[in-house]
Amino acid sequence: MPEMFAQVILPLPLHDAFTYRVPEQWHGQIRPGQRVVVQFGAKKFYAALVFSLSQSAPQNIETKEIIQLLDEEPVVLHQNFELWKWMASYYCCTLGDIFRAALPPGLKLESKSKIMLTGNEEEHPVSEKEFRILEQVKQDVSSLEILQKKLGNNFSYSALKSLLDRNIIRVEEKINSKYKPKTETYLKFHPQITSEEVLEQKIETLQRAKKQEALLFLFCEKIHAFQPGQKSFISKKELLKGAEFSASLLNGLINKKIVKSFQQQVSRIDEKREKQADLNLLNRHQQQALEEIKNCFEKNQVALIHGITASGKTEIYIHLIDEVLKSGRQALYLLPEIALTTQIIERLKNVFGSKVGIYHSRLNSQERVEIWKKVLQFQTNPQQGYQVILGARSALFMPFSKLGLVIVDEEHENSFKQFDPAPRYHARDMAVVLGKQNSAHILLGSATPSYESFFNALTGKYGLVNLTKRHSNVELPEIIIADLKRAWKKKQMRSVLTPELFGLMEEALQNKEQIILFQNRRGYSPFVQCFTCGWIPRCKNCEVSLTYHKYKKRLNCHYCGFSIAMPPECPECGSPEIKTRGFGTEKIEDELKPLFPGVQIARMDLDTTRSKNAFEKIIKNLETKKTDILIGTQMVTKGLDFEHVSVVGILNADNLINFPDFRAHERAYQLISQVSGRAGRKHSRGKVVVQTAQPEHPLVEIIRRQDYTNAFREQMKERQLFKYPPYYRFIKLIVKHKNPENVNRVAGQLADLLRRNRNMKVLGPEFPLVSRIQLWYHKEIWLKIDPLLPLDEVKIFVAQGIETVRRLKENSSCIINIDVDPA
Ligand code: ADP
Ligand code: ZN
Ligand code: ZN
Repeated sequence: MPEMFAQVILPLPLHDAFTYRVPEQWHGQIRPGQRVVVQFGAKKFYAALVFSLSQSAPQNIETKEIIQLLDEEPVVLHQNFELWKWMASYYCCTLGDIFRAALPPGLKLESKSKIMLTGNEEEHPVSEKEFRILEQVKQDVSSLEILQKKLGNNFSYSALKSLLDRNIIRVEEKINSKYKPKTETYLKFHPQITSEEVLEQKIETLQRAKKQEALLFLFCEKIHAFQPGQKSFISKKELLKGAEFSASLLNGLINKKIVKSFQQQVSRIDEKREKQADLNLLNRHQQQALEEIKNCFEKNQVALIHGITASGKTEIYIHLIDEVLKSGRQALYLLPEIALTTQIIERLKNVFGSKVGIYHSRLNSQERVEIWKKVLQFQTNPQQGYQVILGARSALFMPFSKLGLVIVDEEHENSFKQFDPAPRYHARDMAVVLGKQNSAHILLGSATPSYESFFNALTGKYGLVNLTKRHSNVELPEIIIADLKRAWKKKQMRSVLTPELFGLMEEALQNKEQIILFQNRRGYSPFVQCFTCGWIPRCKNCEVSLTYHKYKKRLNCHYCGFSIAMPPECPECGSPEIKTRGFGTEKIEDELKPLFPGVQIARMDLDTTRSKNAFEKIIKNLETKKTDILIGTQMVTKGLDFEHVSVVGILNADNLINFPDFRAHERAYQLISQVSGRAGRKHSRGKVVVQTAQPEHPLVEIIRRQDYTNAFREQMKERQLFKYPPYYRFIKLIVKHKNPENVNRVAGQLADLLRRNRNMKVLGPEFPLVSRIQLWYHKEIWLKIDPLLPLDEVKIFVAQGIETVRRLKENSSCIINIDVDPA
């Protein structure tokens, strides 16, 4: 028998795949994409993923054996691996990093595999070391990790292996404890009931048990007994539901060997739901856009739809998905996590019924495993598997076997980029790669496309389709610029409201219309300050001031979670006068209540949406008009669709416009248009008040005119001049250490080294806006890369630079992260 070796990916940030010997018993069974348990290092066990198989071992290296094969079928497909490889190379990360990001938590196990006795332990002689292991396992020490800890130096890998080989113990995957398939009791005829005659004889014997007989008749009726082609079992719950029969009656039938009960796996996910609605007919403009998209796809694999808010892009997506499903292929519909509300989920489920699965991080790990498996299932059993996935960024990694279409809605959204940990990928860009690898079409959609995507569309890399009419034919809202400085000077402000906004709000409330107010700070006030000496409380772990939360009477750090009670007096000078500074959503809610007596005010931010259904509830209350005014952070900008919102207020546009980042203008424009888009979607034209202290700022005028193309053009001039994306590429390097001197030294050395490459512009090192987070100092180096340079060579050069710096002994405890295309 030839030998066999598996190259496996470990869930660790390691660059290489590691080779293990495959025991003969699994030679016929093992395939890439299956998980195996392996030992790595002296002490740890992991569920690793088989990446490839070979017949020769690496030379001069002793290979360990695979301990256990965990899956009968691959859980990751070769198409997935193609994406992983591409990502690892592009984002300078490891396959292990991607493994950890890609698989649902229930399919990972890290050193916690359970060891169980098989019941054979009496039959075999065991050595001293094996005996020690068995002794522990008998005492219910169940994980490999604990076993190793308990035994210390007495732990022997070869003893463990020998016990496994002789089937005295076995390793169970951890998902058995994390992921338990849900089962239900089902009923069928006992195998002895082979014909109607036999059944009739049995019924005779029931003569005196009238109720049992009645139950048996009901059972026969429900399972269509002996009718060919009909289902021949029923769940116990369904049989006994609503009827006057008890479980003990049923047990009678089971004891008499007429009916047999068995356990069957059922889904946790609501599967009963069938398609409930047909597709909406598209309006004329949507129809035309759909045709244009399809034309684009003839020439170009990627299309961008630039459709104003409430133009009905979602309807177009649904029609495209429908066509892909009819052709027998799968579709992936990506949305930012936060936009995955019941509003959109309902719309898809109504049309596609049980063909659609939803995948996001609020699901528990069991549900995520089930959805993963149902996507896998499509390959072998298309009727049962999922054909459409609506999901957040990590749905990119799902095991699609026949992908035909990838949609990225709200493609401009920043949250498609993963910041930390690696892989620091952009899901929109990866969706394009995924689509291309699978010969699928890719549609990006937004009312305010990212400047990168719009640039790609204008330069012909992507097809471009415009949709400029709202479905209801209502015009985009009117934008009113309100001068904060003037209102302050004239003392016309009511709390945070300019007279313009206050007036429109009163009018809206009189007309029984609703209002959304946007402020991008949560909490009560962004900081507090001693009135006498100017003291400002700061986080002890991070370089930021603490945010005051009035309801909890605490000062919180929004970076690390550190919090202290609000001090009754200044710790520096003893003054009792500590003033709140600036406005968070909580304070605005507080101050608005007395201004609008009897009006229902709600707040939507991270603090009010922590509990499981809170978000949904806030949305419901707005839909049913229980809420009149909604105050919120970024959350209110994401694709929400309400009929009766007529006024939107942006309380302070200045902190958006003045943000120190090369994307500040792009972001400010996007955010303001997206919030504005919540106004006047269905009935009449809405109004948006943008409050600013710099009404003369050029961007403010562009916002007022809602002129996306002009905003884009203006920015492109600047980007070209300063060599910013999309004209140049950025790679950001982040050096981290708890000691600022180390950070300074290492970042300095690294920047000097990189500057030797004259093709590349090196900016920094510089401390970012928040220079310390959770005790770690950060320093950034930005590399500007000419698009004509071969990116692969640049990355190799950078990686070598990092290696060189890191090899110095005094630098070894520094962390250096690479972020390609930082957001
Ligand atoms: P967008 O995603 O472009 O902001 P939506 O797809 O959410 O817009 O559509 C806005 C509203 O108009 C939704 O309430 C949607 O149900 C409705 N709508 C859009 N197109 C149609 C259509 N063809 N038929 C019926 N309703 C539509
Ligand atoms: Zn003080
Ligand atoms: Zn902190």
